[in-house]
Amino acid sequence: RGGQAEREVPFAKPGSLTRVYAVASGKGGVGKSSVTVNLAAAMVGQGLKVGVVDADIYGHSVPRMLGAEGKPTQVENMIMPPSALGVKVISIGMFTPGNTPVVWRGPMLHRALQQFLADVYWGDLDVLLLDLPPGTGDIAISVAQLVPNAEILVVTTPQQAAAEVAERAGTIAVETRQTIAGVIENMSGLPCPHCGEMVDVFGSGGGQRVADGLSAATGTKVPLLGSIPIDTRLREGGDTGRPVVVDAPDSPAAVALAAVAAKL
Ligand code: ADP
Repeated sequence: RGGQAEREVPFAKPGSLTRVYAVASGKGGVGKSSVTVNLAAAMVGQGLKVGVVDADIYGHSVPRMLGAEGKPTQVENMIMPPSALGVKVISIGMFTPGNTPVVWRGPMLHRALQQFLADVYWGDLDVLLLDLPPGTGDIAISVAQLVPNAEILVVTTPQQAAAEVAERAGTIAVETRQTIAGVIENMSGLPCPHCGEMVDVFGSGGGQRVADGLSAATGTKVPLLGSIPIDTRLREGGDTGRPVVVDAPDSPAAVALAAVAAKL
């Protein structure tokens, strides 16, 4: 937008009715994006107007997971986001040619996030989910500056090591005085297809440990919002752009995800 002044972020204005959740994790591959798109789709199913900002420069997998094939268009000097399954979505991947790896630095990411929040025409949203890159990078600080009222959702696996890094990612919110809405444990065991018994592939207890650690750090109770089991249909749904909460709503992962969505 050339030399024009930056637009205000509408979600940060006093009286904004949009709840903003920044989905964070300590490391990649724990299912942060899968959780984000399924929460978004589940919330649409609950009658809410939902948007997703895919700010995960390393993954930017949200459009594929939602089956959002449209491209953003420009109207006047606003960006119109494509939508899929009723979810409006904008992704850093929509602005990079092909599969060019993104090697942006902090200031560029900050600017991109600012534009995604202020220059995209979101309309009236009930909920906006931000899929952040893993780790405690610059973008978490940017979120705190651009939308101080954004609440943090921390995704972890049950594994000890993953829980430790997830807790570190959460403590950044303590420094920026943001509210932590809760912790979601993902890949919490695999139900045996033959006998139904749970196999704790990635150990157990990580989600509760992160929730307890962040409760102690903030002095407020941070809840464990839910535990999502390993589920082949969740992975397939991500690959085919049909989130499990839409395509197999009765599967254990979908039931757990919908229950988390209902709490937010
Ligand atoms: P992140 O955003 O944290 O990097 P992704 O959401 O991309 O993680 O998930 C990493 C991989 O794990 C994907 O292939 C995804 O389909 C798969 N996955 C995530 N959660 C589950 C789950 N509960 N059950 C089975 N596969 C999962």
